Amino acid sequence: MLEHPAYGSLRPVTPFASVLLENNPSAMTLDGTNTWVLRAPDSESCVIVDPGHHEIEHLERVAGCGPAEVVLLTHHHPDHVEGAPWLAGRLGVSVRAFDPVLCLDAVSLEDGELLQLGGLRLRVRHTPGHTGDSVCLETEHDGVRAVLTGDTVLGRGTTVIAHPDGALGDYLRSLRLLVEVPAGTVGLPGHGPELADLAETARYYLEHREQRLDQVRAALRELGDEATPRQVVEHVYADVDPSLWGPAEWSVRAQLDYLRQS
Ligand SMILES: [Zn+2]
Repeated sequence: MLEHPAYGSLRPVTPFASVLLENNPSAMTLDGTNTWVLRAPDSESCVIVDPGHHEIEHLERVAGCGPAEVVLLTHHHPDHVEGAPWLAGRLGVSVRAFDPVLCLDAVSLEDGELLQLGGLRLRVRHTPGHTGDSVCLETEHDGVRAVLTGDTVLGRGTTVIAHPDGALGDYLRSLRLLVEVPAGTVGLPGHGPELADLAETARYYLEHREQRLDQVRAALRELGDEATPRQVVEHVYADVDPSLWGPAEWSVRAQLDYLRQS
């Protein structure tokens, strides 16, 4: 596993992407929120992705990476977006996201849209599943390919499906899209360390989901089709820290929805 820097220092990950780790660690945010600063080596201005929680010390550091052209958001969870209005005001830029509600002085992002920002070409991919509004941002510069994945694929462990906003059928489709990125494409996640090969991790995520689905099917055979999500969680996630049973219940609700619809 890759080493993590101390909080508060900008760490280059590719020639065009650096990360500022917010000091907001938790079971859900892992080491904290990754705020990404994208800038081609010959560009004067940057793009900020996911400012994080509204924590001024972190946001001031992010602002110090400017000048910026825009703030982009991968999805609506507060640990990604809460600081966006303050940061956008500070930098004098707009905010763009898939959900129009999150946008400030700009239109929403569209699936397939090509953005020319920070000297880079960024392709927007709508990848619902973790949430309905989740997007990934694909880019390539000087032969280095990278995808910012938000919480669709994390740097460690697996992500949750925030039922009912997120949906498992959508999520499996989004993972299949990410499995198709060229080998060696770097994954730049919303939490946790970067991924050397995003497609490989996406493949692992798919396998993990299939396994969990099989476990839920087996649990339903034992507990009966009317089992509650909580009962299924305690059965399937017996090997997982009980503090994660709350989030796991979202995933199980999504799994039950998926299985009961198909
Ligand atoms: Zn999230």
